Amino acid sequence: MDETPTETIHRAQRATIAGWGRIGRAGRLLESVDLNRDSPHAALFRGLGRSYGDSAVPARETDLIVATPRADRLLFFNRENGALRAEAGLSLKTLNELFLHQGWFVPVTPGTQFVTLGGMVASDVHGKNHHVAGTFGHYVRALIMRTADGRIVECGPEREPELFWATVGGMGLTGHILEVEFTMERIPSPWIRCESRRIEDLRAFVAALKEAAREWPFTVGWIDCLKQGPHMGRGILICGRWAQPDEAPPAPPRLRRMIRMPFDCPEFLLSRPLVRAFNSYLFYTHPRPIKRRLMDPIAFFYPLDAIAEWNRMYGRRGFTQYQCVLPDPGDASIIAPFFERLTRRGVGSFLSVIKDCGAEGRGLLSFPKPGISIALDIPVRDNTSALVAELNRHVIEHGGRIYLTKDQFTAAADFRAMEPRLDRWLAVRRKWDPEGRIRSAQSVRLFGDHP
Ligand SMILES: Cc1cc2nc3c(=O)[nH]c(=O)nc-3n(C[C@H](O)[C@H](O)[C@H](O)COP(=O)(O)OP(=O)(O)OC[C@H]3O[C@@H](n4cnc5c(N)ncnc54)[C@H](O)[C@@H]3O)c2cc1C
Repeated sequence: MDETPTETIHRAQRATIAGWGRIGRAGRLLESVDLNRDSPHAALFRGLGRSYGDSAVPARETDLIVATPRADRLLFFNRENGALRAEAGLSLKTLNELFLHQGWFVPVTPGTQFVTLGGMVASDVHGKNHHVAGTFGHYVRALIMRTADGRIVECGPEREPELFWATVGGMGLTGHILEVEFTMERIPSPWIRCESRRIEDLRAFVAALKEAAREWPFTVGWIDCLKQGPHMGRGILICGRWAQPDEAPPAPPRLRRMIRMPFDCPEFLLSRPLVRAFNSYLFYTHPRPIKRRLMDPIAFFYPLDAIAEWNRMYGRRGFTQYQCVLPDPGDASIIAPFFERLTRRGVGSFLSVIKDCGAEGRGLLSFPKPGISIALDIPVRDNTSALVAELNRHVIEHGGRIYLTKDQFTAAADFRAMEPRLDRWLAVRRKWDPEGRIRSAQSVRLFGDHP
């Protein structure tokens, strides 16, 4: 016999539910193996919880969060054209284990493989190849969804396109994604040809990133965000492409062992001098000449995955990842004052990443737009909201935007000021969920949902 929603809620456990930044709230958590059955219409779906902020966090302690990772069946795969359909809880890690050595890879991957397909769609993730490939949503052919009134709807770029493009990047607020169909990409070998080199300052970095984008499908930069003066913005530029069979070793890469972060770091380990020393160490241990090598794609795409629970490094109070994209007229004149502000404030981030973003996608709230994306991990302190507000002022002034999946501190008025597409998205969401039944801590903070 079918369970009623009340019975389903009964099976849920009380828990503290947090994003990857570790700032949690009380709620009810249900790990579902059958998304069709376990989705009372008002629940919020959640994948592997790799969104840093509060997008997969309950708004109230009575709210139900349905965790999808156990609903992970692969439903079909077409070897002719790469079409793949799976339940939304299937993880990218499982996909990589199944397909990488058979010559297939996802067309767009974020910087961790501990994400679900549903999470990849809801955040419309981008990767190191955004400048040539766009976001993940571009490769999605269809979604099976359950909307807030309980209807099962198939949508895609041609079918219910409004709902589809509001869901791609819509942070789970337009309905539950039950199944995802998208196109996998053929790869010539399971190895990456990689080149990296030191860059001495921000202007040179932006120029090098743009130049590399013409030649390399994968580019990313690590930046020392504490360095001031003429070498502000120095760092390492990393470029890659899939190796051709004649360049790759005959055997596939060997499985790597993970280590685990054993404790929550005490706050003194996050002090400015130590972060500065760590950043200098990263810079100077990279050889001066260009470093060329063949890499395991898992190490290339997901370097942080090598340390399980690395988010404990930021201590008990947790951290936020501030990620924004700023337009770039080609001379770093917009991002340079942003970095000056950061270095003046001494915002110490162990890892600051810059990426080149290409054209804006069709997802109504998708993050990337042409320019330079900057991501910083910032330990939470009493002044974090004020710092985020200050950074947001620069972003608003220059027509940039922040990435919702990373955000926990932006004020509603600031988000509205940087997102001209917001009213269109809100209108579609209202059409499919007029009472705002599906909500998150983030939707209460940013979109005016009932607390
Ligand atoms: C180390 C690291 C590196 C990262 N690198 C990148 C990167 O390079 N590029 C990038 O774009 N992102 C990146 N991210 C962010 C990550 O890709 C996204 O946050 C992604 O959405 C996480 O997927 P998840 O399954 O953990 O989803 P969760 O974090 O659990 O949820 C994220 C959102 O998706 C919604 N959601 C999840 N499943 C469903 C579903 N079935 N139906 C409806 N809504 C759903 C949730 O409600 C929530 O709003 C990174 C994260 C980490 C930790």
